[in-house]
Amino acid sequence: MEKYGIAFKDAFFGTIDWTWNSILFEVPWYTNYFWGLIAISVVVWILEMIFPWRKSQSIIRKDFWLDGFYMFFNFFIFAIVISGVFNILEVLFNEIGITVKTLAFINTSSLPTWVQLVVFFIILDFVQWFTHVILHRYEFLWRFHKVHHSVKEMGFAAHLRYHWMENIFYKPLKTFGVMILVGGEPEQAFIVHFAAIAIGHLNHANIKITWGPLKYIFNNSVMHLYHHVKALPEGKTRGINFGISLSIWDYIFKTNYIPEESGKVEIGFPGEETFPKGFFGQLFTGFGKEKK
Ligand SMILES: [Zn+2]
Ligand SMILES: [Zn+2]
Repeated sequence: MEKYGIAFKDAFFGTIDWTWNSILFEVPWYTNYFWGLIAISVVVWILEMIFPWRKSQSIIRKDFWLDGFYMFFNFFIFAIVISGVFNILEVLFNEIGITVKTLAFINTSSLPTWVQLVVFFIILDFVQWFTHVILHRYEFLWRFHKVHHSVKEMGFAAHLRYHWMENIFYKPLKTFGVMILVGGEPEQAFIVHFAAIAIGHLNHANIKITWGPLKYIFNNSVMHLYHHVKALPEGKTRGINFGISLSIWDYIFKTNYIPEESGKVEIGFPGEETFPKGFFGQLFTGFGKEKK
């Protein structure tokens, strides 16, 4: 029992230390997610100011600060809180003999680094696409995912407005997906993580970038705005455009839907009027059935 306590403590204080050292620039720059997230956010925000898609939307849009807080909450504060629990799980799995190497399906270690990274990116993205579909499919999961869909004015920071329970759903699926297929993260995985943050920010930003013919591969702000549409099209009431970084899964599984590109469509979900608007209300939402 004691080792689980130690595993919890090590990960918890280790993550606090790591975060603090990141703030002080005392970690390698390419693993500094704290300042990395801020740098990407500032760049995308400046792009929103120079090239706004919805010209009438203000630079500090509705819920800008709420979403700004969510960025740090989900990325750092909650990561610290949950790190101990995830580490206990890792110790448990090692105990019963499931280690990274016993699971690996494909051995990518002999491939060039960039191929490893591309494979890792594609697998990670597909697992997240699938998780996202499930978040929409089942009512008890949708209740949490509604936090992300409660955004009423779209901007880059909306990317990281989501219920902390989503970390709990995504993380094990991502870890298992990657472990089972390629045996773990490649060494330079940070490149993929930073690219995913940048793409996610752009997908939510008030900037119209559609990547030309590459739109069938990469997700984009037009496609993702329709993911947030309030009035879902007939026959697709379980959602559309589930893509995270890549749009290709939606084209393959025919969940794609982009009827027009004005950027003016109403976003949200039916019944949002009674949904908690502030951080603390949203922190505890999703547990138990709503009153009708
Ligand atoms: Zn969604
Ligand atoms: Zn979104």
